[in-house]
Amino acid sequence: MPKIRLPESHPYLYETHLHTVNGSICADNTGAEMARAYKEAGYTGIFVTEHNWGGNTAVKRKLPWLQWVDHFVRGYEEAWEWGQQNGLAVFWGYEAGYDGTEFLIFGITPSFLKEHPELRQASVSEQYQIIKSGGGIVVHAHPYRDARYIPAIRLFPDYVDAVEGINGSHHNRYLDGGYYDHEDFNRNAITYATNHGLPLTAGSDMHSTRLFGAGMAFGRELTDAADFCNSILTREDYLLTDGMFWYDNSGAPLDEVLWD
Ligand SMILES: [Zn+2]
Ligand SMILES: [Zn+2]
Repeated sequence: MPKIRLPESHPYLYETHLHTVNGSICADNTGAEMARAYKEAGYTGIFVTEHNWGGNTAVKRKLPWLQWVDHFVRGYEEAWEWGQQNGLAVFWGYEAGYDGTEFLIFGITPSFLKEHPELRQASVSEQYQIIKSGGGIVVHAHPYRDARYIPAIRLFPDYVDAVEGINGSHHNRYLDGGYYDHEDFNRNAITYATNHGLPLTAGSDMHSTRLFGAGMAFGRELTDAADFCNSILTREDYLLTDGMFWYDNSGAPLDEVLWD
């Protein structure tokens, strides 16, 4: 697999948005397969962010809550074990769905989720309060994606900490060929975030090992998910990428991404 050439100033690349077949019915590969692909492509770490009960979850909704969470984190656990053995940092998050409007949740733990079954019925504003009470952050995922499963674009600037300004599945070149261009979805998201003073994230929204190289590059290694949340809230000097271009943390394009 080709490897992303990382800027000397930002040599640590992280995926912030990926699904595994263990937790998301729309995904193709297991946690271990995903972890291996990211390691080979030159990433330092990944966040596994499965679809929750409001989206394409692979976990039976009727399971008792604690069992539900145990099953929900299997893809992450598998990826984490692979990462421990092979040198890839693996962190946990999830993607919360509200009738097509989706949010990435970072910085809480599976045990916090177990202690808060009320998240399952929470409105978008209640979700925000609960996640904040656990030290986490809420990121609006691909707010301007136009797709059949999203009945309307709905914005919640008061109930998110950041916006996924670059979703790689909107604008990418698969490493094994193919090109997809809906950069307008990303530009609109960046404008929205800028207008509301919200920081930006970037991720691939990867559902298979056919990586296209999106994510966020840092000048240092992240220690854990809380560190990642803090870096966003403090607007650390990180780079965003869709795998084709580098962008600064305000979404301004920089250089082209090179691959080895
Ligand atoms: Zn999906
Ligand atoms: Zn996703």
